[in-house]
Order: sequence, then structure tokens, then C-alpha cells
Amino acid sequence: MEGEKAKDNQSFFWIKSDGQRRLATENLVPGNQVYREKLILKNGVEYRLWDPFRSKLAAAIMNGLDDFPFENKSRILYLGASTGTTVSHISDIVGPSGIVFGVEHASRVARDFLDRVASYRKNIIPVLQDARKPSAYFSVFGKVDVVYADIAQPDQTKIAIENCDMFLKKGGFFFLIIKTRSIDVTKSPKKIIQGEIEKLKGKFEMTQLIDLRPYDKDHWMAIAKFKS
Ligand code: SAM
Repeated sequence: MEGEKAKDNQSFFWIKSDGQRRLATENLVPGNQVYREKLILKNGVEYRLWDPFRSKLAAAIMNGLDDFPFENKSRILYLGASTGTTVSHISDIVGPSGIVFGVEHASRVARDFLDRVASYRKNIIPVLQDARKPSAYFSVFGKVDVVYADIAQPDQTKIAIENCDMFLKKGGFFFLIIKTRSIDVTKSPKKIIQGEIEKLKGKFEMTQLIDLRPYDKDHWMAIAKFKS
């Protein structure tokens, strides 16, 4: 499976490194590292190892993610870009004809995201705004195929749904990272997850719920399809 696409419609790869089968994406900017990830050259193609301990999307793949709507030419709205670790791999996947709108509101983090990631990758549009105000995103245009939300706020589900209402195409996918401890420290994780999923009813059809352990404790990923 070295350097082979995982499935026809999937754009991540399994690469053998140090005797282990590891997840990777094809580097859109050869020679460029984002978080000191290992670069591997195979048959003239450079791959970047994708660390599931650093990226929750990679952790979800390791734990059996069924639908992978991040493809060549996809349009993605990513809430909570941070310093761009996961965004950089999505940028590799969607390629030069795709686009990743990366929303981040913290100015120091956003500067790192710009300097280390967005400035090297033409398919990333940094949106230095508060995800609570999607109507203020002056640079996001058209509908997107996927909304990915990882903003670790107590009201993140509500914020993310407002972004879906505004930008997600009908039938598009919604990826929601549920950080159980940031919502209510007194509630059990199971109750928190159930409560967040309840909020998706009506507009979304749930497709999968993934526990991200052992890569990330206290985080789950909910995946849903947008109906309206
Ligand atoms: N998704 C990132 C990754 O995998 O590399 C990590 C995201 S980190 C857990 C959460 C990020 O969301 C932080 O960088 C934080 O500044 C950002 N954030 C929190 N609230 C936000 C808001 N209302 N609007 C935009 N960004 C926000």
C-alpha cells in the first residue's frame, strides 16, 4: 500500500515509515513542513505524515471514519483554524483547484497561521473573524461542500449551525468536534454528546459519531449531512 490512495475517492495515503503503516497527504508545497512532520519522498512524490495525535481529523480516520468528503477541488469552511495543522492537510487534499476558508479569531494564533501555513498555500483563504458572526466574513463566497468546526466554545454547536445555514450546500457534510469538558464540566461526557447531537435534529441527518481516543481524550467527532 506504499504511497497508494486509500480509496478511489479519498485523497489520503498509507505510507510505510519506520516499519509502520502511517497516514499521509501529498505535500502541496514540496519541501515545506508545517509542524515538523516527517516528509517522505516516494517515486518522485513528496508526502507529509499526518499525525493523529496532532490532528483530530487524522484521529477520526484512524478510528474508522466512513465518509470522507474532502476531495480534489472540494470547498471547505473550517472554523477554528488555529495554527493550521489540520487545515494544511486539508489544503494538500483539496489541491490547487479546491479552497479552504480558515476562520480564526485569536490574533496571535492567526499570525502563526498566516506566516507558517496560509502564506505558502494559495488554496487557503484566512478569515480573521469571529465564527459567531458569519455574516461578517467578507472573503467567503459561494456554498461549501463541508463545514468543519473545532472552536472549543460552550456554544460551538449553535455557532457552527449558523455557519452551515449560511454557507453549507444541501447534502453537504458537517464535521463537529465535541470537546466534552469545554461545554459543561459538571456533566458526564455521554450526556454532553447526546445534548449536542440533539441540537442537530431536524436540519441534519447524523451519519457517524467517533470517539477520538487514544489519540485525543475528551474529544468526539460527530458527522452529519445537511438536509436543508
Ligand atoms: N482545529 C485545529 C487543528 O486541528 O489544528 C485546532 C483548533 S483549537 C482546539 C480551537 C481554535 O478555535 C483556537 O485557535 C481558537 O482561537 C479558535 N476559536 C475559538 N473561538 C472562536 C471563534 N468564536 N471564532 C473563531 N475562532 C475561534
